[in-house]
This record gives sequence, C-alpha cells and structure tokens, in this order.
Amino acid sequence: MEQKSVWLDEIKFKAKPSLKEDINCDILIIGGGIAGISTALELKDEDGVVLIDKGKIGYGVTSHTTGKLTYLQGSIYDDIEKAHNFKTASRYLESQLYAIKMALDNIKKYGIKCDLEKNNSYLFAAYDVDKLDKMKKFLKKTKIKYEECDLPVNIPNINAIKVNDTFVFHPLKYITSLREIIIKSKVQIYENTRATSISFEKDYYKVTTLEGNIKAKKIIICTHYPFFVIPGLMPLRLSLEKSYALLSPYKNEKFNAINVDDEVYSVRFYKDNIIVGGFSHPLYKNINYKKEEDKLIYFYKKYFNKDIEMAWQTHDLTSHDYLPMIGRLNKNHPNLLIATAFNKWGMTNGILAGKILADLALNKQNKYADLFRLDRPISFTKVTNFITNNFMVGKTYIGTKLIKNKDFYKNVHIEMIDGKCSGIYNDENGEKHIVSNTCPHLKCSLIFNKLDKTWDCPCHGSRFDIDGNLLEGPSVFDIKLK
Ligand SMILES: Cc1cc2nc3c(=O)[nH]c(=O)nc-3n(C[C@H](O)[C@H](O)[C@H](O)COP(=O)(O)OP(=O)(O)OC[C@H]3O[C@@H](n4cnc5c(N)ncnc54)[C@H](O)[C@@H]3O)c2cc1C
Repeated sequence: MEQKSVWLDEIKFKAKPSLKEDINCDILIIGGGIAGISTALELKDEDGVVLIDKGKIGYGVTSHTTGKLTYLQGSIYDDIEKAHNFKTASRYLESQLYAIKMALDNIKKYGIKCDLEKNNSYLFAAYDVDKLDKMKKFLKKTKIKYEECDLPVNIPNINAIKVNDTFVFHPLKYITSLREIIIKSKVQIYENTRATSISFEKDYYKVTTLEGNIKAKKIIICTHYPFFVIPGLMPLRLSLEKSYALLSPYKNEKFNAINVDDEVYSVRFYKDNIIVGGFSHPLYKNINYKKEEDKLIYFYKKYFNKDIEMAWQTHDLTSHDYLPMIGRLNKNHPNLLIATAFNKWGMTNGILAGKILADLALNKQNKYADLFRLDRPISFTKVTNFITNNFMVGKTYIGTKLIKNKDFYKNVHIEMIDGKCSGIYNDENGEKHIVSNTCPHLKCSLIFNKLDKTWDCPCHGSRFDIDGNLLEGPSVFDIKLK
C-alpha cells in the first residue's frame, strides 16, 4: 500500500515561475486551491489580478479530497438548523445546489475533462435512525425528492435514502484545467511564491513574500487556514479535523454515500476502484495518525476484504456553526476578503466562494454573501463549541510541551540542542534530519507523523518535511535549524 493521494498520482505539471520582483496590482488572490482558483476564474477578464501560491496550484488539501459534488452532506442541515434555524439551513442547501450547477456549467463551458460522473448519492444511518429521520423531514420540507432504498454495498446500515442528481469528479483534473484557462487570461499567476505577512498602509495592502513584495488594493485569502493571526476570529472560531481515505480495486455499481452518525464514513468510486474515507477526529486528539488510519483499514477489510493500493490523510477546517466563512474580514477591512472553514465540503463551497469573493471584490451584489459573512452573530451552541475546542487545543499545546526528551517512535526523538528544542529523525540510511520542534505559527510543539514522515502541528495544522521545509500553513516559515 502506498501512502499517497490517487489524484496527485495522476497529475504532473511544471510550476509557473515564482515572483522575482516587487509588483503592484488591484486584486491579489493568495492560495490556489479550489477556493482560490475558482475566484481567479471569476476574475479572469479583469485587469490587475494576481494569484500566488506557495507551491503548485491544487496541491493543497484539495488534492486529498474525495471529490464529491453533492448536497447530501451527512447531518449538516440538522447541525445548521440547531445552530441557526430552518431558514438558514435551507438557504445553505440552496447554495449547494447552486454551486453544483456552477461546477457543471464551468465543465461544459470550458470543455473540462475531469472524469465527471453523475451518480446516486446515498445518505444512511448505521445506528442513528433519529438523525436520518430529521434529515428526511428537512428534505421533505425543502421539496427535495428522495427514495427510501437499500445501500448497494455491504456496510452496516439500518436505513438509507438516495437522490439521483449528484456528481463525482477528479478534483485535480478540474483545477489544473482551470489553471490552464487562467494562465491564458488576464490573471497573472506566480507559483512557489509564499506570502509571509500582510500590512495595511494608507490605501493599499502590502504583502511580503519570500520572493518580493506585492502592493494590492484588495486581498483575497484562500490559503485554507488563514496564514496570519486574526484576534478573536482565528483560531477561536475554527477547529481542524483530520480525516483518512483509501483506494482499493473494487468493481460495483457506481454511487456515492455518507452516513449521518457521529462516526462518519464516506464512499465513492473512481474507475474500477472504491474510495472509502472518514474516521475523522479533531486534530488535537489521537495524535498517533497511523493508529487512526489503521481503524479505517480495519473497517474496510472487515466489510470489503480487498487489497488496498493507496491511503492518504489530510485535515479540513470546520466552523462552529457548520457554515463556511466567506467574505470581508470586518468593517475596518472591507478590502480584505477570506474563504475558509468549508466543513469538509470544499468542492461545492470552494466554487461558491469563488463567486462570492469575486462579486464582493467587484462591489457586486451576491445572494449568498450575507449567509457566510465572517461577522455573523454567535449563537449559544457556537459559543460552547468554540470554548470547548479552544480549551482542548490549549491542553494539546501544553501536552506537546511535555513530550520533551522522549522517544516518539523508533528513529524519532526530541532533544535540546544548543538550548533549542529539536526534532530528530534517523532515516533508513542512518542519516539524521534535525529540525526545530517548535511551530513558528503560535509556538506549539510539533509531533512526528509516521505515515507521511512529516512534523505536524496538532494545534493549528502546519506541516513540515523531515528537513524542515514548510508543507502546509498557517505557518509561513520553515523549521530548519540555522
Ligand atoms: C478526507 C477529505 C475528504 C474530502 N472530500 C470532500 C468531498 O468529497 N467533497 C467536498 O465538497 N469536499 C470534500 N472535502 C473538503 C475539501 O477537500 C476542502 O474543503 C477543500 O479542498 C479546501 O480547499 P481550499 O482551497 O480552502 O484549500 P487548499 O486546497 O489547501 O488550498 C490552499 C492553497 O493555499 C496555498 N497557500 C497556503 N498558504 C500560503 C501562503 N502563505 N502563501 C501562498 N500560498 C499559500 C496552498 O499551497 C494551497 O495550494 C474533503 C476533505 C477531506 C479532509
């Protein structure tokens, strides 16, 4: 079994050159995942638009998704209704239908070859029939037609329903096709260009990158986790969840499915393979990721009993009221726009974010802008959720500080070197890789991820390779020892 994502396995392209000098622009998009590239597509005919990415476009979390374009998203409508009300949950549903239509329109308009397939979406209960009943009630009230049915595979379920108007696609083929379209447009793309800070100066923003400075009238941040600290917003209103996925050869009627229970697993097919994902947990919890991935593997083998070819893991941001955060940072910064917290539904919400952010940047009306705005009021559920979450992140922070001078695993340990807490990894050839063990973002201690051989921050999700190179933010700096 290889530890890698099937989407990355199939896509190769040469990065566009990085920034080489200081530049000025009207709108700067930072981050080219599904959200950033969708924003660039919406702005492709405008003058003065620049998109930068710290690596290659599409290689972030989007390259580790399961690639479903569906509005049957587990128990989300019930969760939103609890945090807000029925009207908000039904508007969210409407926004997801709109996003699916946008994706289909783009695929048709630009002739994108991304293995798009229409197939049935199943929603099922492994044990929580009450929750599924609530979802049925919600769908009835919103006039979505569904059918009671059996699941077409052998995984535990008590009750299931299906709809027939959802899709799956190859997320990276979709993104790289958009990248090609944008390269030919007015938008300027710089890859391998990492933003490290933003400052506001009179009537423009100055973004510092490792490669040059950019002055921009408007900034759109699509970096998954916003890479700069915003007091009172991030990390307070967000939490991170780690999820696992695997791919195995398996011929079956093609469909996609997800359950409503607390332990979530999802299924889709790609070519003659099944992709099973799920077993999420808060990032700060269960920091032995290998053990967590083994749970998914055990589950798969129990019900399908097949060889597994690939497995991968990644994390996504969830908001404490289950609605994504898309829009202006706040009243004082109307020209600083953000898209984050897609609650593991970033294919639809990333595409939607592109439209909302582009409309806001161009001072146009957008019917969903108020639904996802960042300064929406906080409900009681939300407050308790985010206090608990922050308490746990704090506990993890202290916990990681205590794992000093201790062997993590065979070949990995933490040691004080020249007064600096350092992480040491001995590779298969006996070579030592020594890095700082402190995350440059908010000084959490890093833990070793045995699956990917990376140093990961269990508090806010930054990741580094064994030589200290930054792989994923919010950190903007490496952890190489000087
Ligand atoms: C296991 C799993 C399965 C999922 N399956 C589905 C699914 O089936 N359907 C669905 O709708 N959603 C799914 N999701 C959710 C979805 O994958 C994510 O919500 C989405 O990919 C996030 O996209 P993004 O554009 O916000 O982030 P990313 O794809 O991570 O893009 C952010 C980009 O910003 C760049 N960047 C970061 N920092 C900087 C910086 N300082 N300077 C410059 N660039 C920077 C990165 O290099 C990256 O390219 C799944 C999530 C998980 C975890």
